Amino acid sequence: MLKKYRTILKSTGISPYIWTVLSILPFYFIFQTTSTVKIFIGITITILFFIFYRFAFISKGWPVYVWTCILISLSFLTIILFNYVYFAFFLAYFIGNIKDRIPFLTLYFIHLVGSAVVINIEIVQQQELFLKQLPFVLIILISVILLPFSLRYRKERGQLEEKLEDANKRISELVKLEERQRIARDLHDTLGQKLSLIGLKSDLARKLIYNDPEQAKEELLDVQQTARTALNEVRKMVANMRGIRLKDEWVRIKQILKAAQIKLVAEQDFTLSNVSLLTENILSMCLKEAVTNIVKHSEAHTCYISLEQTEDESILMVRDDGKKTIKGEDFTKGSGLMGMRERLEFVNGSLDIIIKDGTTLMIKVPNIVRITEKEELK
Ligand code: ADP
Ligand code: CA
Repeated sequence: MLKKYRTILKSTGISPYIWTVLSILPFYFIFQTTSTVKIFIGITITILFFIFYRFAFISKGWPVYVWTCILISLSFLTIILFNYVYFAFFLAYFIGNIKDRIPFLTLYFIHLVGSAVVINIEIVQQQELFLKQLPFVLIILISVILLPFSLRYRKERGQLEEKLEDANKRISELVKLEERQRIARDLHDTLGQKLSLIGLKSDLARKLIYNDPEQAKEELLDVQQTARTALNEVRKMVANMRGIRLKDEWVRIKQILKAAQIKLVAEQDFTLSNVSLLTENILSMCLKEAVTNIVKHSEAHTCYISLEQTEDESILMVRDDGKKTIKGEDFTKGSGLMGMRERLEFVNGSLDIIIKDGTTLMIKVPNIVRITEKEELK
């Protein structure tokens, strides 16, 4: 609840203190006059202004024009009667929040021209109280000119961001759908066909079993063969879907380093908890690229690998004691590290290259966190 209130305040972009001061100020100006009637009129106008202001905010269509024009008239009245200009600020804020373009522009110009005229009249009349607060009047005039447009721009940007988020969500849903369709197609093309073949052949074998046992045997052999290939295809499909696990990659890089005669120092058993399969695949790919780079470019004797998991993230460090003269820009030459960075960015991870007595790659990826739980704790 409190959070919601805070976000509302934040979204106005104007500090609540300014609103409070602006709401109390009219009474200061009203009590500058000595006549009771004028004080009474002043209080009535102020209360009416705030009531109508609320109405204007909840109205839609043509009533917006009516309420805004009434508010503008009240604002001008307070300027003339009490030298109080600050309602113009409330109006500028309201106009900035009008969604449709035409009412926004119309009311903006009415308010701007009206305020300028009334303020000029006051200056020409040399109202003392008015002249005293001239700097503030100027500030208000500037807000009347700029505030509506700045608010409108902010709103439009917020809406665009929302749309972008929606579009991204839709894209990822479509990608999922496409992936599902691909799996369905694969299943149908490989398994479906083979299973129906197995059905037909076993049916045929059953019919032939007494009259032509030799042919029946042939058919059953075919059935066996087809079942075997189908099983192989399923295994391949599943392996493709699973991607590369870190453990499997670990076995492979050990072999690569051994072949290159580079000593491996690592104290971790490479199991991760709390990361998605996609993240693990990306980590495996990074590990492979980092180790291949060490073999290809570093001339190192030893390679140090560590994997650490904190509450929020997993950190994979791959260090070598190779080339000491290497410079930062050398790392921008190829596409391997760039691909690594791009993939890591995709899962909100990061890659840092530290050059000190060889090369260290620090790869960080966030763990899966349940956002709602975290938010609730805040
Ligand atoms: P590629 O391997 O295709 O050259 P990379 O992006 O993987 O592209 O690497 C870019 C460059 O960074 C390499 O050409 C090499 O000069 C340098 N580099 C990468 N890793 C290391 C390392 N461990 N030690 C020394 N130099 C490295
Ligand atoms: Ca490379």
